[in-house]
Amino acid sequence: MRQITVLGSTGSIGVNTLDVIARHPDRYQVYALTANKTVARMFEQIQAFTPKYAVLVDKAAATRLKQKLNEYNENNSSVLCTKILDGVDALNKVASDSAVTDVMAAIVGAAGLLPTLSAAYAGKKILLANKEALVMTGELMMEAVSDNNAVLLPIDSEHNAIFQCMPHQLDQQTVSNVSGVEKIILTGSGGPFRTTDIEDLQKITPDQACAHPNWDMGRKISVDSATLMNKGLELIEACYLFNTSVDNVEIVIHPQSVIHSMVQYVDGSMLAQLGNPDMRTPIAHALAWPERIKSGVEPLNLIEIAALEFEKPDDKKFPCLRLAREAILAGKFYTVSLNAANEVAVEQFLREKIAFVDIANVISHVQATIKFDDKLDVSVESILIADQQARKIAETFIKQLTM
Ligand code: NAD
Ligand code: MG
Repeated sequence: MRQITVLGSTGSIGVNTLDVIARHPDRYQVYALTANKTVARMFEQIQAFTPKYAVLVDKAAATRLKQKLNEYNENNSSVLCTKILDGVDALNKVASDSAVTDVMAAIVGAAGLLPTLSAAYAGKKILLANKEALVMTGELMMEAVSDNNAVLLPIDSEHNAIFQCMPHQLDQQTVSNVSGVEKIILTGSGGPFRTTDIEDLQKITPDQACAHPNWDMGRKISVDSATLMNKGLELIEACYLFNTSVDNVEIVIHPQSVIHSMVQYVDGSMLAQLGNPDMRTPIAHALAWPERIKSGVEPLNLIEIAALEFEKPDDKKFPCLRLAREAILAGKFYTVSLNAANEVAVEQFLREKIAFVDIANVISHVQATIKFDDKLDVSVESILIADQQARKIAETFIKQLTM
């Protein structure tokens, strides 16, 4: 029986993970669920999965959840024994407890970094949805995984597809020296504004940006998909996960989101993983790996799909793609500042404080302004300092923009 901690259980990936887990009660038990402050949904999840722990980072929300649980227990014969915790340290605890076997890392943004690292240091099997954590830490995370015999399996549909197309499905792939792999082809739908004129991007609203044509996701990643920063973060994610350089990763726009990514071999073969755009497929794949289990996803109807299209991404319309490529080439802390600036900008766009096109402007400004000491060693502390430094510059720039 696997004991699973789901970090970010109330979000889009968290809910999909619990959907897959619920289909296999003989294999999986939920050890802990965590969220930021969503009381009602967390209470429903506690009732459905009776975990040992439930964490709400927000103290006031955790107090409300405790009250709800006590009221329930006073009025029902079947008692819920889940222990409610609060605070950031509790996330690290439930990600690294000795009883835990698998950790689904599905917190959005930099907030997921420390618990994901805790799981790596504790040698867990990590199912990584929280791409921002890897974009920020890169080699540090990969080293924490290998030094502690942890296993890192990608949940991001593209990376999960690449992993499935790699030879022998080893867990740490090195593209340049693994059995004839020549190149990774990272596909992306192009987002909701693929065919929108560049001039019309100025007045895009948060709701328009969050209406993705193929995927139903949290609001932050939806905006990232609309600016193509999601593809930029995924480019960086692919470089670290598969230990390759940006030159070995080609981004191809594929509007149907049927092929989730591909691997090209030296003999002319190209392997692709196909499936309906439903995150339960990569989640089920990683949960059961190297076995296969049912996910609840319907198989593709190829006759109905009929045609698959591919096109080059438009770097001019979507500058975030270029900014991500530049960040990884610029080296260690620039992917940290890229991610931090993006998180600040997306939040302010979602609050309607800045325009859609200003997201790229904020990131561009931060990357051009910030300076890192070349001699600074990469550590969790220095990464968090770089993150804060970038956030401050982004916030100051946004203040000027909105004056
Ligand atoms: P979401 O916004 O739907 O859910 C985020 C979860 O994280 C929630 O449970 C929330 O309570 C929790 N959370 C938010 N802020 C927190 C904080 N400060 N501290 C602790 N917990 C916090 O997001 P999502 O769409 O499920 O995405 C989660 C991660 O998975 C992101 O990194 C995203 O890039 C990645 N991802 C998502 C999808 C998708 O289809 N949704 C696909 C690929 C990758
Ligand atoms: Mg993806």
